[in-house]
Amino acid sequence: MERQTAWPKGVISRYLTDAGRALADPSMTVDIFDQGDSDIDGRCNGCEETFEDSPYITNDLRTVRHWAQEHAEKCRAMPRPNAA
Ligand SMILES: [Zn+2]
Repeated sequence: MERQTAWPKGVISRYLTDAGRALADPSMTVDIFDQGDSDIDGRCNGCEETFEDSPYITNDLRTVRHWAQEHAEKCRAMPRPNAA
């Protein structure tokens, strides 16, 4: 895979979103972060939803992975282009 982008610091897993798949854009992902001390968090680069916004309560890795997979499969949000 030549088109892999560099992973931001702390990211331990990435899930390509539905929009990213359609556009073949590997930067459109749901990222899972390990912030140390078992503090796992997730964030979608498309719609900016975070794991905290989800109805899940426990943030163990299994649950966050489940959310990320589920969210990535249906998220069609396009990231807002950076203002020039
Ligand atoms: Zn999203």
